[in-house]
Amino acid sequence: MNILLIEDDAVLADGLLHTLESDGYSVRCATTALAAEQWVDSQDFDLIVMDLGLPDLDGLQLLRRFRHRKLSLPIIILTARDSLNDRIDGIEQGADDYLTKPFELRELEARIQALIRRCYGGFDHQIRIGQLILDTHKQTILAANQAFLLAAREYGVLEILLMQAGKVVAKDRIAQRLSNDADGISDNAIEIHIHRLRKHIAPYGVAIRTVRGLGYLLEASHDGA
Ligand code: CA
Repeated sequence: MNILLIEDDAVLADGLLHTLESDGYSVRCATTALAAEQWVDSQDFDLIVMDLGLPDLDGLQLLRRFRHRKLSLPIIILTARDSLNDRIDGIEQGADDYLTKPFELRELEARIQALIRRCYGGFDHQIRIGQLILDTHKQTILAANQAFLLAAREYGVLEILLMQAGKVVAKDRIAQRLSNDADGISDNAIEIHIHRLRKHIAPYGVAIRTVRGLGYLLEASHDGA
């Protein structure tokens, strides 16, 4: 699961990065609004944790920009502004939750988990399709109750397909999840990865359907195991 952390306080950012990575999240860090927008342009994220006091742009403005561009992922704001109005403004601009500084890391971890559960999975932290299970708490994918060993990029794609199971995932999102840099990835390369992934998951009663012009959809297969 990919988290974008937007925080300009180096000490705090470092602590958050360390904690979230040891929880199994893959974390990118931005110290300015500009860098955050560049990350969002080039990569796919599942959740954003953002400070409101940024050096180059007010965090509330950045939040508005994210929502204007139809970025629908969950966002938690971190703020030293503890007045009621600031918190209400944050929620009104599209934040899903907030934490007032200083906060306990454990509380942030719990809130991230709660948001992931609310936005992506069931209450038991598990999303199941066929014999595949994505455990959003342990950050693992199980196939027939065993750890599913996949190349990192294919794992990333399977993860978003599972998180959005039953819904079409846009090809652009898949491309962002697969690409390592801003140069992107060709349609052919996406199809090769999807082809490989299909072969890996077929024995577990799961299939990836191509929805022409839109993207891909993960579903239980009826002809599978
Ligand atoms: Ca700050």
